Amino acid sequence: MAEMQFIKLLPPTKYQLTYAFSPGTNSDAKSAVARAFSTWASNTQFTFSESPNHEIADLKIGFYRGDHGDGAPFNGANGILAHAFAPTDGRFHYNEDHSFSVEPVAGSFHLETVALHEIGHLLGLAHSQVQDAIMFPGIAAGTTKGLNADDIQGLKTLYDLEA
Ligand SMILES: [Zn+2]
Ligand SMILES: [Zn+2]
Repeated sequence: MAEMQFIKLLPPTKYQLTYAFSPGTNSDAKSAVARAFSTWASNTQFTFSESPNHEIADLKIGFYRGDHGDGAPFNGANGILAHAFAPTDGRFHYNEDHSFSVEPVAGSFHLETVALHEIGHLLGLAHSQVQDAIMFPGIAAGTTKGLNADDIQGLKTLYDLEA
């Protein structure tokens, strides 16, 4: 029986994920993030459903500023736009000190484009060198971007998914 202790089974990948927003997240941001989740869902085997329970959701999204207690402080309006942790952490934070918008607007960052990028990180993707990929680091203000074949291929490789 003692040998049993050394057997470690890897958990199967969880493809059905729930997400929830921090209290106070505005409805424009919620809708933009929901659209980004459906874009990823329609291109992969993952499904995403909103949970009313922030505590137990797999993925947690919110707006934060400065040092917000996760060991990765934001640095005001000069710092990064957002960050997300790799699986299975599930946290995705927008930097509240930047300006975000639903539509592409000069001087503002497109909520849905940022969400597409950060959801890629939540699913385990690293940055890509392909300029048109959503996982290319950096998004210009006032512009939008969608998923690229490189992003979808990256995820398939990561999870060994069939095309
Ligand atoms: Zn954070
Ligand atoms: Zn990134």
